Amino acid sequence: MGQIRLMEENLSNKIAAGEVVERPTSVVKELVENAIDAGSTTIEVLLLEAGLTSIQIIDNGAGMDDDDALLSFSRHATSKIANEHDLFRIRTLGFRGEALASIASVSKVTLHTSNGESGTFIRLEGGRLVEHRAGSLRKGTDIKIEQLFFNTPARLKYMKTLQTELGHTIDLLNRFALSYPAISFKLSHEGKTILQTAGSGEMKRVLADIYGVAIAKKMIPFEGESQDYKISGFASLPEITRANKNYISLFVNGRWVKHYAIANTVHQAYHTFLPLERQPIVVLNIVGDPYLTDVNVHPAKLQIRLSKEKELMELIHTTIRQTISGVVRAPIIEKPKAPKQLASKQLDIWKAAYTVQEPAAPITSTFALPTELVNTGFEKVAERDPEPDSFPEELPVKEVQAEELEQTVEYVEEESPQFPELEVVGQIHGTYIVAQSDDGFYLIDQHAAQERIKYEYFREKVGNTDASERQALLLPMTFHYSRDEALRLKENMDVLYENGVFLEEFGDTSFIVRDHPTWFPAGFEQEVVEDLIEQVLNERKVDVKKLREDAAIMMSCKRSIKANHFLQKHEMERLLADLKNAEQPFTCPHGRPVIIHFKTYDVEKMFKRVM
Ligand code: ADP
Ligand code: MG
Repeated sequence: MGQIRLMEENLSNKIAAGEVVERPTSVVKELVENAIDAGSTTIEVLLLEAGLTSIQIIDNGAGMDDDDALLSFSRHATSKIANEHDLFRIRTLGFRGEALASIASVSKVTLHTSNGESGTFIRLEGGRLVEHRAGSLRKGTDIKIEQLFFNTPARLKYMKTLQTELGHTIDLLNRFALSYPAISFKLSHEGKTILQTAGSGEMKRVLADIYGVAIAKKMIPFEGESQDYKISGFASLPEITRANKNYISLFVNGRWVKHYAIANTVHQAYHTFLPLERQPIVVLNIVGDPYLTDVNVHPAKLQIRLSKEKELMELIHTTIRQTISGVVRAPIIEKPKAPKQLASKQLDIWKAAYTVQEPAAPITSTFALPTELVNTGFEKVAERDPEPDSFPEELPVKEVQAEELEQTVEYVEEESPQFPELEVVGQIHGTYIVAQSDDGFYLIDQHAAQERIKYEYFREKVGNTDASERQALLLPMTFHYSRDEALRLKENMDVLYENGVFLEEFGDTSFIVRDHPTWFPAGFEQEVVEDLIEQVLNERKVDVKKLREDAAIMMSCKRSIKANHFLQKHEMERLLADLKNAEQPFTCPHGRPVIIHFKTYDVEKMFKRVM
C-alpha cells in the first residue's frame, strides 16, 4: 500500500503558519493589513505581553457576513483575488488567503464582525471551531488572538525578549502610519498608549507623531514621475542623520517593503551630503502598475520583485538628489576659496554643496592612486576635496601603474610594529603629511592620525561620571522624542548615565540635560549628547561596552582636523609625536591606515636607478 496521504487541513495550516506567523509582529501585520483592505479609517491594536498573551485589533471597516466570517478561517479563502489574471494586478495588501487560517491554527481566536446588517461571533482554538453565534451589529471587525503558539512550544521558545518583540511591532505600526496617513492608528501595550496618529491625511503630522516635531520640521517633501512610476515622499535635511538604514521607509503601492537596492539608491542620493556611514530619514512612496511590482515572492509579503528597476532607480536618485541639493545649495558661497578659514562645520556644508556641481567621479581620479588605495581610506579625503580645479589637469610625472605602486607601498603596520623616527618634510593638499626616515618616506593621513590620538584619549575618558569633572549648562538642553523612542530611552537611562549623560524625564516624551562632562569635545557638546542618545535608540539590545567604544569613536571624529587644513610645521611635528605615543598608531578607529611607507629601494627601482 502507498505511503502518501493528503494532510488534514489543520495540519497544513500549522505548517504554513511557520512561514506566515513567525512572531507576534507578523500576526499584527496580517491583521492590520486585513483591516486596511476592509477600508477602515480607524485601526486600534491592543497588546498584552508584547502580543504573546493577547493581540486585539479593532477596525471600522466593511466587516463580514456570517458565511464569510466562517469561511475566512479556511486555507486559501480570500475575497481579494478570483483568478490568475488578478494575481498580477494585486491592489490589496492581502491576497494569499492563508493568514487567518494559519494564525488560528496556532492560537485561540475570538472574532466579532458585522457588515452592518448581520453580526457574527466566532471562537476557535487551535484552528477548531468551538463557538459560533449571532453577535453585535457594530460595523467593522474586532479580532483577538490569545495564547499565540500555545500548541507549538518550539516556536514560543524562539521568541526574543518581550521588549524586542514589542519594538518590532512599534516599528511596524510606524510604517503603516507612514504609508496610510489618512488612517488613524492607535497602538497600546498593557493599557498604555504607545503610538497614536490623527488620521488627518497630513503627512507632516504623521511624521511628527513618529519622529517628533523637531525632525518633522526638517523633512522636505518631494515628488517625481517617469514613464512607468510615480514617486513621492519626504527626505530629511542632511543635518539629520541616523546610524542605519532603518529610517528609510519604502512603500510600493501602499505596501511597506524591504528592498536593499532601493534603500541603497536613496542613500546614494545623499552622497557627499552626509558623513560617511550615516543614513538619512526618508519616506518613499512608489506607485506603479501592479503588473510591474510582483509581491508574490514570499509569504510575509515584505519582499517585492520589480520590473523596469533601472528606470525607477534613476527616478529616485534624481528626485531625491535634486530635492536635497535644492535646500543645501541655498547658503552657497559664490567662489569658494581658502577653506581653512571656515569653521569646520560650515566647511562640511560648503563642501557638500560644492560637490553637487562638480560630480564626484573626476575628483578621485585626479590623485592617480590605484583603486586598492582609494578603497582603503583615501576615498574619504579625496571626495571631500572642495577644489578639484586647483589640481593640474595633467601631471608631468610618470603614471604609476596600480600593481607597481602596490609593490612599492607598504602599510607600516605589516612592516614593523615599531613606530619609525620621522622628520616632517611638508604637507600635501592640506591633507597628508610627508615625512622621511632612513628607510624611505611616509605619507600620513592627518585626519586619520588625529582621530586615532583623540580616540585613545576619549576611550580613556568615557565612563567617567565623576561629578567634579562636570560643566553646568546655562540653558539646559531639551530633547523631544516619539513615544516609542521615549520608552526605549527611559529603559536605558542608566547606560547613558554611564557615558556621562544625565538624562532627566520632562513630561511624557521630552527630556532635559543640565550639564555634561568637561571633557566632552568643545563646541560639540549638544551634538555628542544627541549622538549618544541616538546610539541607544538604534541598538536593539544596548551593550554598555559597545556603546562606550562607539562613543569614543564618535567623539574622536568630531574633534579631528579634517582634510584641507593647512598645518604649521610644529603642528605636524606635534601630531607625529602624539601618534608615536599612541597605543596603536597605525590605523584610525575605523580601521583605515594612518601611515603608508614608500621604501627608498622601491622608489629607486621605480626611477630605474637600481635594477
Ligand atoms: P487574505 O487577506 O490574503 O485574503 P486572510 O486569511 O488574511 O487572507 O483573510 C481572509 C479573508 O477574510 C479576506 O479575504 C477578507 O475577505 C476577510 N477578512 C479578514 N479580515 C477582515 C477584516 N478585518 N474585515 C473584513 N474582512 C476581513
Ligand atoms: Mg490578509
